[in-house]
Amino acid sequence: MIRVNAAAILLDIEGTVAPISYVFGVLFPHVRKHLQPFLDSHWNDPAVMAARRQMGTDAADPSLAGDKKRLIAEVIRLMDADTKATGLKMLQGLIWEVSYRSGDLHSELFPDVLPALRRWRVDGKRLGIYSSGSVAAQRVFFKYTSEGDVTPLLSDFFDTTSGPKRSPDSYRDIAASMGLPAANVLFLTDVLEEAEAAKEAGMRTAILVRPGNAALVRATDLPIAGTLEEISIY
Ligand SMILES: [Mg+2]
Repeated sequence: MIRVNAAAILLDIEGTVAPISYVFGVLFPHVRKHLQPFLDSHWNDPAVMAARRQMGTDAADPSLAGDKKRLIAEVIRLMDADTKATGLKMLQGLIWEVSYRSGDLHSELFPDVLPALRRWRVDGKRLGIYSSGSVAAQRVFFKYTSEGDVTPLLSDFFDTTSGPKRSPDSYRDIAASMGLPAANVLFLTDVLEEAEAAKEAGMRTAILVRPGNAALVRATDLPIAGTLEEISIY
């Protein structure tokens, strides 16, 4: 058991509270499957039009925005190459949002996560998220989980607009914006370099080793846990 004194817990998402396989195993195939019907019924939605225009800009071919057949081919091409283009991300986000709202798509948390978050909230701990996904995407992710809306448990959301996850300054800024000394914040992540950056900023840290995660890049003296049940916060 890892025992840590902390007033707030800051959590990473992928590989920490949710399986990394969710993105590649669920979210990306969902886009491929629903792309055509989504565009058929939402082609003229303002947000979809903005995403189409951005895809045309990304491809340096504005005519792409108005050509559904070529646009679909471009989405598939970008996804096959795992390209993180802005217009593609906009369009993917819109497809996921519609599917989350309709109940077609749910995000998955590891089974120990929700009980731990509830327990920590009962103990008066403040809970926040720091993930490379946008804050908007984080809110949707936690609102539509297979166990219901988890957002009422969460007080703070941070993304890379707070800085890169491997930079100690990001963690200093996050603690400051939470109004807490870094030493009162426990950061939980699956990535060693992120934990080291948080530690350098003065935070407490533990590393989660979850099924499906890549092996740690090197040995470490930082505490390692298999589930949140192994972490006791006082
Ligand atoms: Mg992670």
